[in-house]
Amino acid sequence: MRYDADIIVVGAGLAGACAAFTLSRNHEVHVLEADAPASGASGAAAGLVNPFMGRRARPIWRLREALDAVPTLLEAAGAPTLFPDTGVLRPAVEPDQVEPFQEAAETHPDLATWLSPATVRDRHPAVQPDHGALFVPQGGAVNVGAMVRELLDGATTRGATVETQAPVLYWRETPGAAVVEVDRGTDTEDLRADRVVLALGQGYPPFPELRRLGLGGVKGQTVRIRRPEAPSGSLPPMSGRGYIVPEGDTFVLGSNYENNFEDLTPTPDATEYIQGKTSDMIPGVQHAEVLDEVAGVRVKHSETNLPLLGPLPRRDRLWTFTALGSKGLLTAPLLALDLPTYLNAPGKIPDPVSTLKG
Ligand SMILES: Cc1cc2nc3c(=O)[nH]c(=O)nc-3n(C[C@H](O)[C@H](O)[C@H](O)COP(=O)(O)OP(=O)(O)OC[C@H]3O[C@@H](n4cnc5c(N)ncnc54)[C@H](O)[C@@H]3O)c2cc1C
Repeated sequence: MRYDADIIVVGAGLAGACAAFTLSRNHEVHVLEADAPASGASGAAAGLVNPFMGRRARPIWRLREALDAVPTLLEAAGAPTLFPDTGVLRPAVEPDQVEPFQEAAETHPDLATWLSPATVRDRHPAVQPDHGALFVPQGGAVNVGAMVRELLDGATTRGATVETQAPVLYWRETPGAAVVEVDRGTDTEDLRADRVVLALGQGYPPFPELRRLGLGGVKGQTVRIRRPEAPSGSLPPMSGRGYIVPEGDTFVLGSNYENNFEDLTPTPDATEYIQGKTSDMIPGVQHAEVLDEVAGVRVKHSETNLPLLGPLPRRDRLWTFTALGSKGLLTAPLLALDLPTYLNAPGKIPDPVSTLKG
């Protein structure tokens, strides 16, 4: 059987870029992206690497390995500086968060420290915590769009090819190949590979085979503002009431959560809401100049709230890598590092994320 590539990766968001990078080490990889790299959720993400999530600072799945995977992958791609050594600060914004935050620090003393309000003010004078904060030194933030581009560049250096403006319309499996039909404007073209990895993010709804996996989407927006004048001192990325990621002389603020949405455009109402809520952490952000607004959809698995990886039901060669939800940075690198192994031995995919255990 003549293939156009060993592996075709569909979608150049975080999932597709991580997969393309790790698979290109030993395979000929071809990436097909409908639009441009990181044009979906990956272009909207604030980029927090926060392993203790939500109001109660719950540890994420495979906490330590997930935290290690981010710098490991970035280092392999020659872009370690995308994940600077800042840590992530989780101010407790309600009194009832103090107990679970302190508990997280007690249970994981090597990963998190509880800071009193006075200590927070001392270290970060711009932050106004009423109740103290959890500090996670190994966390931080990554510019996800830049990470996607670096990973694709790394894959290209290893021989992969990346095609943009190349939407996939359809796929099928024959005994000898996985075949995708690519929209070429006035025509379509079939491309053949040994395997296809579908990493479509919010591109899934037109495809019944993906819809049946139990996916759902939550729209969210981030807002880039000019950094307000504030007391000097270091400022790590923060997640409290909303989140704030400092980037040069700007802040990226997030986010809102919309379960019902008709389109993916950002809205002024969401911007106002996000600026309002984040001003509880750093006064002044609500009046700062807005430089950019971006919206995207966090695709989730409705039951597990964990990623989904593996062959589609009743398929061998057609795989999916999706449902990264709101923590793609702590799932995509982790799973992609072992993807070359999983591809040859699907039974090794961890049960909680495997399509074979649904
Ligand atoms: C507002 C917001 C804030 C977030 N903040 C964070 C955060 O701080 N930290 C964190 O870890 N995560 C965050 N996330 C989540 C993170 O963005 C996602 O988990 C991750 O980016 C999803 O990556 P993906 O590759 O699955 O999807 P996407 O990035 O959406 O990529 C899918 C790609 O597939 C392409 N595509 C779709 N259909 C087709 C087709 N038919 N043919 C070819 N290509 C196709 C799309 O154009 C797109 O480029 C946030 C998300 C949002 C929306």
